[in-house]
Amino acid sequence: MMNHLRNCGKFSTLVFADHSSGKLSKSTLKILNAAKLLNQQISLLVTSNDANSVVDQIKSSIPSNVVHQVLVAQHDSFKAPQADVLGNLVKQLIDQHGFTNFVTSTSTLAKDFLPRVAVKYAAQPITDVIAINNDVFLRPVYAGNAIAQVKSSDKVKFISFRPTNFEEIQQTGEKVTNIVQVKVENTKQLIEHVSDELVQSDKPELTTAKFIVSGGRALGSKENFKILDELANALGNTAIGASRAAVDAGYAANDQQVGQTGKVVAPELYIAVGISGAIQHLAGMKDSKVIVAINKDQEAPIVSVADYTIVDDLFKVVPELTKKIKEIKQ
Ligand SMILES: Cc1cc2nc3c(=O)[nH]c(=O)nc-3n(C[C@H](O)[C@H](O)[C@H](O)COP(=O)(O)OP(=O)(O)OC[C@H]3O[C@@H](n4cnc5c(N)ncnc54)[C@H](O)[C@@H]3O)c2cc1C
Repeated sequence: MMNHLRNCGKFSTLVFADHSSGKLSKSTLKILNAAKLLNQQISLLVTSNDANSVVDQIKSSIPSNVVHQVLVAQHDSFKAPQADVLGNLVKQLIDQHGFTNFVTSTSTLAKDFLPRVAVKYAAQPITDVIAINNDVFLRPVYAGNAIAQVKSSDKVKFISFRPTNFEEIQQTGEKVTNIVQVKVENTKQLIEHVSDELVQSDKPELTTAKFIVSGGRALGSKENFKILDELANALGNTAIGASRAAVDAGYAANDQQVGQTGKVVAPELYIAVGISGAIQHLAGMKDSKVIVAINKDQEAPIVSVADYTIVDDLFKVVPELTKKIKEIKQ
């Protein structure tokens, strides 16, 4: 690895790489495409206690005409990344190298540390950005019912992009070779990481899944939710989501919630099973390419955003649909 750091000049962008269990996340490939719209040289920041495998993936997938250099900050405290140490590191890099944009995805981690850095520059973070029009950032507000147009005069801009609104970067051409180790100067930790409770699932992650089957209150129990599992297995490569009512009732896990206070998704296919389509739910899934509603109420709000609606009892429709898909796939 090279061990010198290039000063990035007057206008440049630092993008924070998302990764998990040694794998570079697709969201990173998407927000790089978003960051390109800022028309500045891009540096990519990888923080980890062991960055080797993520850096290898970057070296084999990310073109040098997208990312000019990769900054690698390795430190034990990044084993379970904490907002305070991350925030200090980002400030250190901005001060040292004069980045004028700091970009993240809309991950939970970024929601935690982005404002912590922004406040040190008296800057207003521009979050949940879905598009840029010249120098105007577009971001949904009021549960997606209005789009705010934001212009910022902050000297350093702190921006989070919604990965679901951007395509992944093309992975063709020469790949980035400029890998630079950076020293983490301030490792003072005010937050103590106690433990992780990870939900084990053989299903794809909600925000990057191609297909999603989501269940609502109408499922009635955790046990009944399993019929969605069978439908998802029949479809293949399908994640399982839930409405907040289903999560609150304990039918599904917290991290399955789709919506304003859950995850924002935009899969190729979203099947809403026994979900009414409250405005807060629609805010998280209405950009899905094809929406199918299974609901016994023809007047349910979900019907107005659905491309196809099956008006019937879900306990009849879901097993039939599962059976048909299995037959077709045989
Ligand atoms: C600040 C705030 C944030 C929120 N954030 C979120 C969020 O992120 N995500 C979210 O989902 N909600 C969120 N909510 C809650 C939201 O307002 C709704 O209460 C919730 O989405 C309703 O969930 P549901 O559609 O599963 O239940 P319901 O609204 O009760 O709908 C159940 C649906 O199932 C249908 N049904 C019933 N039985 C059957 C059957 N046998 N077969 C077929 N269909 C049947 C009914 O016709 C109905 O349409 C939020 C609310 C607030 C106030």
